Amino acid sequence: MMKNFVYYALLMVLVVIILPLIIVRGCGYSEESDPSIPDKKPVEEVKINVYITSEDQVREMPLEEYVKGVVAAEMPAQFELEALKAQAIAARTYVYGRLKGLYGSKNDVHKGADICTDHAHCQAWKKKEDAMRNWGIFTAYSNWRKIERAVKETKDMIIVYNGKVINPLFHASSCGRTENVEDVWEGKPVDYLRSVPTNGDEESPNYICSTVFKTEDVIAILKNEYPDIECNEKDLFSDIEIIDYTEGGRVKNIRIGNINLKGTDVRKLLSLRSAKFTIEKVDDGNIKITTTGHGHGVGMSQWGANYLAKKGGACEEIIKYYYLGVEITKISEYEQKENI
Ligand SMILES: [Zn+2]
Repeated sequence: MMKNFVYYALLMVLVVIILPLIIVRGCGYSEESDPSIPDKKPVEEVKINVYITSEDQVREMPLEEYVKGVVAAEMPAQFELEALKAQAIAARTYVYGRLKGLYGSKNDVHKGADICTDHAHCQAWKKKEDAMRNWGIFTAYSNWRKIERAVKETKDMIIVYNGKVINPLFHASSCGRTENVEDVWEGKPVDYLRSVPTNGDEESPNYICSTVFKTEDVIAILKNEYPDIECNEKDLFSDIEIIDYTEGGRVKNIRIGNINLKGTDVRKLLSLRSAKFTIEKVDDGNIKITTTGHGHGVGMSQWGANYLAKKGGACEEIIKYYYLGVEITKISEYEQKENI
């Protein structure tokens, strides 16, 4: 009986742990460099300082290792490889832009580090062990190897527009179109961050999501932010009017009582998943808000990227679809040009 148990246990180890490793190793992927890409002089490994927000400490790590942790945290590992590669290029571009000081100073909360792991501030990042623990034993190793592959196959790649590193904004899912950046944040239009049609976003979880808000809660939130607001407190719905929409189809301006707000303000105040929303009055006089998509809507839609990858799109095509007029270059080439 005991002997049978030992055999069974060994068999399970073989099936669950060793076999998947053999299969994954055997799928033809080699870590050696692609001979079709001419090797220029060896590039020194770039290291960065990352402020790990949850641990309140700064850790130095190679840039490429950092990018793996961003892909693991920012995109579902079951996504297509080419979508993960597009995410790796966007993540690398962002941290490289930070290193170059291109997006203004954010160092006040970074304790001197180049970047932090707060997704709302910079971009999310996960330790390998944490990512693997979340995935569970059956997918942990294959998922991590897939992410490693996405990062290695895009090693050193960044996105530029007119020779300058871009701000590669991305979001979870759109709602049929992405947004023009100036419709979401104050500032001038950016040539590569324009509204484009997207597909595949509807495959994302909670793509359409409804929440019922108590009228008094909405009024309390509004009064806290806008103390001078006057509105019909008995029938708030009748005192709300969507004025216009952005090119991306989200609420641009909305009137509530005597004040005008942007759709993005309402999204922030009520923690809505997106600024594409409709408002209804429900039976008890409260209001129901239904959102479509998830995120600010600017730049690359991750679910849209996965859709393009499923249709056979390569990472370069995905990047160029969502960021108009850009090129992909290598950090080494970019730095050589900078030094000329
Ligand atoms: Zn940050």
